[in-house]
Amino acid sequence: MKIIVVSKRHGSTRSFTLGGWTRALLSACIVGIPVGAATLAVSHLSNTDASDVMTPESALAWSESLERQEAEVEEARYLTEKKLAAITLRVAELQARLVRLDALGERLTTMAKLDNGEFDFSRVPALGGPEEDLDEANYAAPDFQLVLEQLGEQIEDRQQQLDTLEALMAKRKLQNDVFLAGRPIKKGWMSSRYGRRSDPFNGRIAWHAGVDFAGKAGSNIIAVAAGVVTWSGERYGYGEMVEVNHGNGFTTRYAHCKESLVNVGDVIKKGQIVALMGSTGRSTGPHVHFEVYKNGRTVDPAAYIHRTNR
Ligand SMILES: [Zn+2]
Repeated sequence: MKIIVVSKRHGSTRSFTLGGWTRALLSACIVGIPVGAATLAVSHLSNTDASDVMTPESALAWSESLERQEAEVEEARYLTEKKLAAITLRVAELQARLVRLDALGERLTTMAKLDNGEFDFSRVPALGGPEEDLDEANYAAPDFQLVLEQLGEQIEDRQQQLDTLEALMAKRKLQNDVFLAGRPIKKGWMSSRYGRRSDPFNGRIAWHAGVDFAGKAGSNIIAVAAGVVTWSGERYGYGEMVEVNHGNGFTTRYAHCKESLVNVGDVIKKGQIVALMGSTGRSTGPHVHFEVYKNGRTVDPAAYIHRTNR
């Protein structure tokens, strides 16, 4: 084998002949390089992850991974749809509830005979504000967003109306509570009427300024309306007595009590127990002498006893 070496700089050539063993050595070198490289590469690849290289096994793994991802995406889509359906259902529920609230509000307004102009549970709340262009990004599902916002506004509006309605009703309830009605006892019977009668002590004709209710000693005496206690204790002729001022010129007295359970200045509720029945003062037996004063003068309590609560 003859090898010619050409010098690049001088263009001169040198040639030499290779003998048997040098030729074998050179061949080994030339062939050895790719073989060695291949061996190296294989040994390197065998050490790396199988999924990085397209072998039949790794291709299967890839396809499996893809399928798994597809299933996950499908699952996510399904869940999202399910959630959306749930939210839609919830919104529908809220709307239905709002309709019922509106009906209740209207009924209450009618029942309370309130000015309809002030309350309108059928109107869409007054809304306003400058028109604004929506960004493309914000334009996703605008209907849903709008429905939710309107629902929120409607609920806010109804809340305010119902609050006002409640306040008005509470005020009316208060007026109702100071409205005199019913008997000053739970158990017992009327034993003497208002007006002219013969005095139980001396038999002479006298004026009975209240009505008497007889019952068991120690039984409850209740206030016929809300008010403020203006007397609690002994009073000539009345024995142990409780007086309650109800406002609007009305005062009630509960006399001949065994014991008073309230103090002057106490604010009491309608129906509250103010004393226990007894027979103190000018009394022949356990009873309560009940008087009603209107602008400082006694009136027949019967008219108030028999009227029902407004
Ligand atoms: Zn009496």
